[in-house]
Amino acid sequence: MTMKFSRLTAALGMIWALGASTAFSQTFSLYTLESKDHIELDRIQNGYEIVGRDGSTYQIYVPIEKAQIFQKENPRARLKSRDVDAEWKPTFNTQPQFVAGYHDWQAIQDYLSNAVATYPELASKAVYGQSSGKRELSYLKLTSPKSKVNGQAKRKLFLDAATHGDELISTEVLLSLVSELLEGYGSDQRLTAMLDQTEIFVSFVVNPDGFVNQNRYEGWTDPNRSYPWPGEPDKVATPSIQALMKLFEAQRFDGSITFHAYGKLLMFPWAYTYTAIPNKDDYAMFNALTDQLAEENDYRHGTIADTIYVAKGSSVDYYYWKFGTKALAVELSTSKVPPASRIPSVVDEAREMVWSFIENFYKN
Ligand SMILES: [Zn+2]
Repeated sequence: MTMKFSRLTAALGMIWALGASTAFSQTFSLYTLESKDHIELDRIQNGYEIVGRDGSTYQIYVPIEKAQIFQKENPRARLKSRDVDAEWKPTFNTQPQFVAGYHDWQAIQDYLSNAVATYPELASKAVYGQSSGKRELSYLKLTSPKSKVNGQAKRKLFLDAATHGDELISTEVLLSLVSELLEGYGSDQRLTAMLDQTEIFVSFVVNPDGFVNQNRYEGWTDPNRSYPWPGEPDKVATPSIQALMKLFEAQRFDGSITFHAYGKLLMFPWAYTYTAIPNKDDYAMFNALTDQLAEENDYRHGTIADTIYVAKGSSVDYYYWKFGTKALAVELSTSKVPPASRIPSVVDEAREMVWSFIENFYKN
């Protein structure tokens, strides 16, 4: 196992290629607003983005060029940060040690090839489409060659990261956990069972264009507001999301987690409305499941609408609505890009939640 470990993790040592600062094309300001008025909040959510909530104080991202208009429209809003990424943006370009440990796009491609070459029995790679910017969309499929004792089909799970291209910690957490699964197979009883009992599909970067350009969007569209939803069933999603929708349609995943950052939240449908999902058994299942998964890391949990705010066109709503997937959304950490030295602690924070999620599909 030692040889395999060092061969797979060789790719982990690569650092982000230091690009020009022009890569950071979008700057957001962070405002907070204390409000209980849903007409006011709906109006804000339509033009801007509510990213978090603390009691009745909402955190709102505003593109810097719209900050003046926003402040005029919402005189009670308080400016918390003129540039939310200011803390890490300059160091990202000038201090390689800050980002050593983060994978760039090429390092992720190398990681995929390396995983398949090192663990041909456990890992395979497949391409499921192309982004707007013609970048390859791929997943790694993890499972052991063992069939289930009872002859049943293995349950299929899907894990993804970087739907918002600037939420870099989400990709790093998945890379670390996938390495642990592959390296632990055959020696760690718990991890071995996971690959014997399930098929786990992992997309490390859902939105490669945003990832490469270091911003949230695919083109100028928020991919996680572009899904069709019950109020807008014919909505046309971004190309990367359309490809993912087709993959879900073909594979019919039993469960999924989409990883975002930040906020330390664990959430389930609906996002588009405060009304609970109509199926009472499913609603109870989601509550019990998230209670259990958040037991160790104490992530705040509930529906997306209750936990943050109403958001239309998000992934969990679509996958649950169309395919009945046990679809969860996680907001990791307290930063989109914590210093690389803190990556292991974010992995620690997520690990038990993810392992318990996987086990849920064969233990209960
Ligand atoms: Zn996100």
